Amino acid sequence: MENVMSISQPDRKSTTTHDAEVLIVGAGPTGLVLATSLATRGIRATVIDRLREGVNTSRAAVVHARTLEVLEPLGMTATLIGRGLQAQRFTIRDGDQALVPIAFDKLPTRYPYTLMVSQAVTESVLLERFVALGGQVLRPRALVGLVQDPTGVTATLDDGSQLTARYVVGADGMHSTVREQVGIPFTGGSYGESLVLADVRLSGGVPDDEVGLYFSPAGMVVAAPMPGGVHRIVAAVDEAPEHPSAEYIEALLQARGPRRYPAKVHEVLWGTRFRVHHRIADVYRAGRVLLAGDAAHVHSPAGGQGMNTGILDAMALAGALEQALAGNVSALDVYGAQRRPVAQQVVALADRLTRLATVRPGLRWLRNLLLSTVSKLPGIRNQLARRLSGLVYR
Ligand SMILES: Cc1cc2nc3c(=O)[nH]c(=O)nc-3n(C[C@H](O)[C@H](O)[C@H](O)COP(=O)(O)OP(=O)(O)OC[C@H]3O[C@@H](n4cnc5c(N)ncnc54)[C@H](O)[C@@H]3O)c2cc1C
Repeated sequence: MENVMSISQPDRKSTTTHDAEVLIVGAGPTGLVLATSLATRGIRATVIDRLREGVNTSRAAVVHARTLEVLEPLGMTATLIGRGLQAQRFTIRDGDQALVPIAFDKLPTRYPYTLMVSQAVTESVLLERFVALGGQVLRPRALVGLVQDPTGVTATLDDGSQLTARYVVGADGMHSTVREQVGIPFTGGSYGESLVLADVRLSGGVPDDEVGLYFSPAGMVVAAPMPGGVHRIVAAVDEAPEHPSAEYIEALLQARGPRRYPAKVHEVLWGTRFRVHHRIADVYRAGRVLLAGDAAHVHSPAGGQGMNTGILDAMALAGALEQALAGNVSALDVYGAQRRPVAQQVVALADRLTRLATVRPGLRWLRNLLLSTVSKLPGIRNQLARRLSGLVYR
């Protein structure tokens, strides 16, 4: 076996000759939170990632209240809050009309807001904490093969070396090699549209204290404040440009966003496009191999649930692996039984928001009427706030 460095905790006795108790494939948010949580439990984990360095782009920009709560024992929450911006509301709008205002400030949590922070910053905070606990990510190392036997798993990497572990976790994203290697189907489909995403500086009527989801016959657009006077814009379009210009984003906002004070976009700091899928792994476990995060579920970013769900998976899986390593292997099935239905609910919510956002023009008045009537009921607004913030999954 190759001589790789692992996180070793001398206080924990390993009864096997495996290189690690847990091999985590993928050092995105899911893999990093899992690794850190295992380290705090004194469990030897090895983390590999196929990229030479972490992706330094903005991507998922929302960290919800429940995520901040679960990261507390890992000592990450205060640092994240210090680097982010607190948005008190999520409002579904049609132009200037607020259809569904959802307030987070009455939520029963120490974090009654949604934290806006770029994924690059979130990952750097997670990695810093993991490294402070003695952890290390081995990169660039890609997993290319997996073989299981009754005592463990042997992983083959792209340089031909092998690593053994008692359990392997696929936290390797939507195109998960781990999932493919164990033959778990990833059931679902794709939306026809693609998403354009940009971090911009703008002026005009876009609020800077709330996350706005604008419904429009042309498609939805999300406008959310980020630290440093930046706004994150996400919109569903037929064919998104690879590098959206300021003019392109401005035209989108003017067609779909605020009308009384149309937005003016002065600068695009970062922009990209991606296609949206809605898929869930049929099972989260195949013997000694587990799935978490985007490897297990992907969906539309409407509602900003993707990374948050992955982090909650990671925390639940850390507890299950601790129990399995102590002899209670059924905890691994409980993990899947608890987390897969959550992914189903998240995919359904994101799907509903995406479909509502893009109803045919003839049905728009009906949708707006229904939403504004329903949203007058405080119980409904409160329920949506609890769902979006993740508190419903406590
Ligand atoms: C362009 C873009 C924009 C996005 N925007 C949003 C957004 O606005 N809102 C939102 O909620 N979500 C968004 N997402 C989704 C969000 O980024 C993911 O939900 C989140 O990153 C999931 O984290 P993860 O750790 O599960 O997987 P990932 O972040 O995908 O991490 C997987 C890691 O595994 C590594 N890996 C893959 N294969 C292997 C292998 N064979 N061997 C070793 N390592 C491997 C990869 O290099 C990667 O580092 C966006 C994603 C993209 C790509």
